[in-house]
Amino acid sequence: MKEITSIEFPKVVTDGGKVVLDFYSSECPPCEALASKYEALSELYGNDITFLKIFRQQNRELADQLGVSSSPTLLFFENGQEVASRLTGGIKRSEIISNLNSMLPNERVAAIRSEIIPTISEYDVIILGAGPGGLTAGLYLCQAKVNTVLVDIALPGGHVSTTHEVSNYPGFIEPQAGYMLSHNMSEQTKLCGTIYKVAVDVTRVDLEKKEVVIDEFETLRAKRIIIATGTSPNPSGAVGEKEFKGKGISYCSTCDAKYFVDKEVVVIGGGNAAVEESEFISRFASKITMIHQFDKLSANKVAQDKLFANPKIQVVYHHEPRSFTKVGNQMITEVENLQTHEISKLTSDGVFIFIGFKANIDLFKDGLELDSWGYIKTDEDMRTSIPGVFAVGDIISKKYRQITTAVADGTIAAIAIARELE
Ligand SMILES: Cc1cc2nc3c(=O)[nH]c(=O)nc-3n(C[C@H](O)[C@H](O)[C@H](O)COP(=O)(O)OP(=O)(O)OC[C@H]3O[C@@H](n4cnc5c(N)ncnc54)[C@H](O)[C@@H]3O)c2cc1C
Repeated sequence: MKEITSIEFPKVVTDGGKVVLDFYSSECPPCEALASKYEALSELYGNDITFLKIFRQQNRELADQLGVSSSPTLLFFENGQEVASRLTGGIKRSEIISNLNSMLPNERVAAIRSEIIPTISEYDVIILGAGPGGLTAGLYLCQAKVNTVLVDIALPGGHVSTTHEVSNYPGFIEPQAGYMLSHNMSEQTKLCGTIYKVAVDVTRVDLEKKEVVIDEFETLRAKRIIIATGTSPNPSGAVGEKEFKGKGISYCSTCDAKYFVDKEVVVIGGGNAAVEESEFISRFASKITMIHQFDKLSANKVAQDKLFANPKIQVVYHHEPRSFTKVGNQMITEVENLQTHEISKLTSDGVFIFIGFKANIDLFKDGLELDSWGYIKTDEDMRTSIPGVFAVGDIISKKYRQITTAVADGTIAAIAIARELE
């Protein structure tokens, strides 16, 4: 694959035929995650599309001209014109393939697909999920010289990577930025030698056979599997939520609160997450209206005291959202008073939803014993009801879901597995 500079750009891209260009940076974990996929796809599509890369730090002016503001960014060109959508962040193989295919005739796409040779690789342990639970298990297994592969549908870090500040992870006197804590956890595990397959599509999981297929054609087999896939935020179920997700509705204050400087925000929820995240959003927003279904918040007392002392935050009790719509840039949240059933409308610049979580278990539910909330039951060594399958972190049935408890679960499972495989 050719590396170019901005001087060569006009010739090879503007005058070239079909081109894909990777703006990468050094010390960039998502760029590292992309590199092997990009290389493999260049071998597959290389006869039809020219694969190029360019070092963003040394070609800043061109990056600015093209509006490239994060690494990696993949740009697609045809006869000098940008085509297909830009890809950035934790870029999946399937997203690149979809863009590449859109640049080729159907027959050629079918021919390329028929050239893909499925691969099978063997490990001692497959860990599904690279949040604190999976990363810690990976670290301990690696240090015990157990051949381990860590698989994640996103980049490593789990919820911690999008938590604005973590003040209760032992070993740090000052609160830590979540993305730094998760970055350090991930780098420690990676440096030890654990193999990473991140930002992939998990196509199929067979827990009995201990087999995971990623990106359709890559089969991973192991003697043990650890499930560490955590949880996802619950949707409110109100009309319009899906439509405006990412376009006015957010589930992540670290990611999006900064876009609400001096703006008005609606927060749905009344538990710890809603209260703590509202506090954080209030650093940016001018006014926050919290909508809560009950007559009291369910967050802990310290968090509530802080919230009630914050003049920017107002709580509306006994209400639930019914629909979300948009007028221009304004979000309209229709809420129902659960006592009077009266419907009213709140106008804001954005909506954040923090109403609990559900276990990420859809791909491998069969055969696992679950509790009544859908979380995986384990024994004290983190063994599930399927022999050779362990589960750790927020996905398991337990009372307290924290970074420290996920880390502890990961430690226990890894030590138990290392002993079994001795
Ligand atoms: C907003 C917020 C703030 C928080 N603040 C704190 C705090 O201050 N202190 C604290 O101790 N705890 C905090 N927590 C809780 C803490 O983040 C979690 O308890 C912890 O991250 C759980 O770790 P985990 O590894 O089990 O799961 P997660 O962190 O959820 O990671 C799961 C990983 O699995 C991946 N995954 C999902 N599905 C699949 C699949 N099918 N295949 C492969 N991978 C998959 C995900 O992409 C993710 O990377 C907070 C949580 C939230 C949401």
